[in-house]
Amino acid sequence: MIRINEHYRKLQSSYLFSDIAKRVAAFQQAHPETEVIKLGIGDVTRSLPEACIEAFHRAVDEMGEDATFRGYGPEQGYPFLREKIAEFDFQARGAEVAADEVFISDGTKCDTGNFQELFAADIRVAIPDPVYPVYLDTNVMAGRTGAFSQGRYKGITYLSSTAENGFVPTLPDEPVDLIYLCFPNNPTGATIAKDRLKEWVDYARDHRALILFDAAYEIFIRDDGLPHSIYEIDGAREVAVEFRSLSKTAGFTGTRCAYTVVPKDCSAYTADGEKTSVHALWHRRHTTKFNGVSYPVQRAAEAIYSAEGRSQVRERIDYYLANAGRIREAMRGLGYTCAGGKNSPYIWIDGKTESWAFFDLLLNRAGVVCTPGVGFGPCGEGFIRISAFNSRENVDRAMERIKEALGA
Ligand code: PLP
Repeated sequence: MIRINEHYRKLQSSYLFSDIAKRVAAFQQAHPETEVIKLGIGDVTRSLPEACIEAFHRAVDEMGEDATFRGYGPEQGYPFLREKIAEFDFQARGAEVAADEVFISDGTKCDTGNFQELFAADIRVAIPDPVYPVYLDTNVMAGRTGAFSQGRYKGITYLSSTAENGFVPTLPDEPVDLIYLCFPNNPTGATIAKDRLKEWVDYARDHRALILFDAAYEIFIRDDGLPHSIYEIDGAREVAVEFRSLSKTAGFTGTRCAYTVVPKDCSAYTADGEKTSVHALWHRRHTTKFNGVSYPVQRAAEAIYSAEGRSQVRERIDYYLANAGRIREAMRGLGYTCAGGKNSPYIWIDGKTESWAFFDLLLNRAGVVCTPGVGFGPCGEGFIRISAFNSRENVDRAMERIKEALGA
């Protein structure tokens, strides 16, 4: 008899986006004349940079000639891309990362989801609340949690991110082995200062723990004082893995390219306490289960590091950041407290009521769709997330409508 992985039965169905869709459909049916403006979902709206498109076309042409055709590439990615990443994203910022510590993949969703499988089933895992749900669900699937009760899984150490701690969790009271951090954060838009990140690195070193640092939104950081990479912190190479994605950086959500940095100094331990290389484990896992990102996509990704590519990426990120600034200022003008919206495409707004009630208010009175914060975890209750990924015109129209609806 073929039996299922019982841990899957503990997973909570994610009703968040289907519930949103249902409410939007009901509103649309009742108000067919209103054009609903969607500022809910975290997907980019601007095209791929021109430099990427040109590189993509050139690579596709190469695939059309026997002389330049490429079949299977290295599973970890082509050296031309890994070298550019190490140089531009890390070495240029004084962070020590070598090209062979970079693993190219088709997404940070897969990488953050898969990484936990290198570790024992009975380790203690620390996960932020609110959170990008992949970290949590993949640990549930792997059997590292008990049952779900009152909004939380037993066996997980939740790192509460609240207005009181500025949405940057404090160190846990109980010892943990695997720690997920995400900055700039989805959904709160919060960033972490160097001294706070250093506390986490020091904690991991003291406890022989490992930090999985999701920096998918790094490109939005504009404040000079903020760390772009965890490897800007002394000692992080021994205790941290960093995830980056081209999805938001360069509009690759539909094209798919990301990478994970696993320093060779990074260790995990056998049951007998023997030090083992996390790099070697991930190399084994990646080369066994993954067959590489397509050649044209890697060439398109490489193009973001050219002079033109860099300026085209910057122009697009400036555009989204300007949207974020307008949303933040409009909501603050209406008397709402906001986090994020600076160094981040997300604005996390204290709705002064339940998340779904505020969602309904914005939908029914302004025809604007946001994301209820409670959908990201119990600490998100009372908040909504507004995303800056839309056209300037739609953002301005949405904010005008909200101002009118909320009586400014
Ligand atoms: N990590 C975070 C925090 C995200 O918000 C997202 C996407 O929304 C991802 C990872 C997924 O990235 P990718 O498109 O590279 O799979």
